[in-house]
Amino acid sequence: MTEKMKNIGLINHLHRWGLKVETVSGWRQRGRPYNFYPKAIICHHTASGSSSGNFASEGIVTHGRSDLPGPLSQILLGRDGTVKLVAAGFSNHAGYGGPRAGIPANQGNTYAIGIEAENNGLGERWSPQALNAYYRLCAALLDWLGTKDVSKVFGHKEWAPGRKIDPAGIDMERFRAQVKLALAQGPSVKTVRLSRLVPGKRNADVLLVKKRLAKKGIASSDKTNFFGKELQNDYRAWQIQNGYKGKDADGIPGKNSLQKLGFAVIP
Ligand SMILES: [Zn+2]
Repeated sequence: MTEKMKNIGLINHLHRWGLKVETVSGWRQRGRPYNFYPKAIICHHTASGSSSGNFASEGIVTHGRSDLPGPLSQILLGRDGTVKLVAAGFSNHAGYGGPRAGIPANQGNTYAIGIEAENNGLGERWSPQALNAYYRLCAALLDWLGTKDVSKVFGHKEWAPGRKIDPAGIDMERFRAQVKLALAQGPSVKTVRLSRLVPGKRNADVLLVKKRLAKKGIASSDKTNFFGKELQNDYRAWQIQNGYKGKDADGIPGKNSLQKLGFAVIP
């Protein structure tokens, strides 16, 4: 077990990255009795039933199965995107596989942090909250490990191709691109929802967009949390500034233009 994972600062670090964090009692002391030198991250899915609950696999991931002693990963990611710290030490999640990203063959458990994300792996839709948290959690952990190299994030199916399929339904190249974006945006990035950013809506995301536009020099006198004509005009100016034309510059925020404004975006 390393001081790095045991360090109490990890929770604050994840909070700074905008993650909701819970812990399983005793997580700092939990781990198999082997050395653990984390320098990469392996992504998994738990295969729990799609309606089995937010942390259906907590018991198994913490305590293991009859054929495999726990912990089965350091971190469990809930269906709602909540991060649960299970163990700080060596966990049985990687098995045979590799080499990859500088980790010798069959030594994934010694060198990689495992994240088990709740999903049935049989086509269950990943919620936008869970995916956004998965990207941000990986970015936060890379930052914690002192690297920006997103190749150090990979799927179990990439570590053990042919033997493993997890995380199912996730294209790991696109996943890494999102982790890279999250790293570029940094820890204090705010997440906004597209569905809250349409004319006529009144909410905190609207006000966030107005404040960000003002920082970009597109300021109007409208400082309310209401999405009215003024914001639509201002947003159109932002779209035009970014090369959007015609229908693409309609003043209604889209994912790309919001990312350029520095936000993480979920539907
Ligand atoms: Zn796995």
